[in-house]
Amino acid sequence: MATTGARLMRPWSDAPPIAVRARIAARSAYQQGAQAGRDAFKLSSNENPFGPLPGVVDAAHRTVSFNRYPDASAPRLRARIAERFGVAGDAVHVAAGSTSLLLQFALALCEPGDEILFAWRSFDGYPWMADISGAVPVAVPLDADERHDLHAMADAVTERTRIIVVCSPNNPSGTAVTQTAFDAFLARVPPGVLVLLDEAYIEFVTDAGVVDGRRVIASGHENVVVLRTFSKAYGLAGLRVGYAVGHPRVLEAARIAGIPLSVTAQGEEAALASLDAEQSLLERVKVIAERRDRLAQMLRESGWTIPRSQANFVWLPTGPGTARARAEFADAGLIVRAYGEDGIRITVGEEESLEPVVRVAASLAAIVERV
Ligand SMILES: *Cc1c(COP(=O)(O)O)cnc(C)c1O
Repeated sequence: MATTGARLMRPWSDAPPIAVRARIAARSAYQQGAQAGRDAFKLSSNENPFGPLPGVVDAAHRTVSFNRYPDASAPRLRARIAERFGVAGDAVHVAAGSTSLLLQFALALCEPGDEILFAWRSFDGYPWMADISGAVPVAVPLDADERHDLHAMADAVTERTRIIVVCSPNNPSGTAVTQTAFDAFLARVPPGVLVLLDEAYIEFVTDAGVVDGRRVIASGHENVVVLRTFSKAYGLAGLRVGYAVGHPRVLEAARIAGIPLSVTAQGEEAALASLDAEQSLLERVKVIAERRDRLAQMLRESGWTIPRSQANFVWLPTGPGTARARAEFADAGLIVRAYGEDGIRITVGEEESLEPVVRVAASLAAIVERV
């Protein structure tokens, strides 16, 4: 608001007499990756350094219906995605980002006290969806190699478990679940438990042994829903489009739980145009995956032991030295994402960011070991 010079009114006390649900009060507001200044590299939110694909901005601009509500269920986009998965349009559900989808499934499936199981550390959206929906979050630690411990996750299923989230590749460790491990895991999951396979980074996977949601859907499991997004590889994080593929009846429940009309016409057009630019997408993804492997290799050579990333980021296990490491990166104009006393996630960004990232990481390798 342009209120320069004007005195802002603040007629309230610091503590309004409004009760908030305990689980909401216990949370802090969403922590976004810091915005970078002009001379800094923003490597904190796994965004795409390339921006939208060719033709996408034009397509979004051509959408003239600013004054009309969008098509509620984004039917054209659903049909296009469905075609790719070899399923009918009603087996696809589109929402404003896959974070929205996570919450929709939690709201649709969980009564208070029901359990949502996920690996940890993983995406912050998983404990969040449990808190907001009134479900109980059950976090199963990653194994020593920062991978999902699917045996332990299957062991942790109780009669209250309604949803298990599997994040492959995992955010923030970058490790992916193999198809073999996923199949063995599914065989142990009771048919009434929904498995959400979160594949936000699937496009960056280069290991042919990694689980592929398309294959899982083709095998007809009724209790698996695959989640994907246009935010990462497709470079549309700002337009908010994600989708779910799975049994139409399960998707219908999520749709009912979601806020109607939240996918904009511009978002739908941009996503459609992105799917048209498949060749450019593959080229970009290849550049980022190659850059990732090179960055990981250089970090290893500088003394770090890091997990094998299949995503567009790498994980630096800085442990108790995490806050200091984040500050050192920031001083060098590198905005990275720090996780408590666990480590730092660095997005694979512009080519020019690699040299300073490796330089700071190398200087930290010696220090962090002694912390
Ligand atoms: C980024 C991300 C998402 C989804 O992002 P949206 O922008 O909401 O589509 C989902 N899952 C994981 C693990 C992510 O990292």
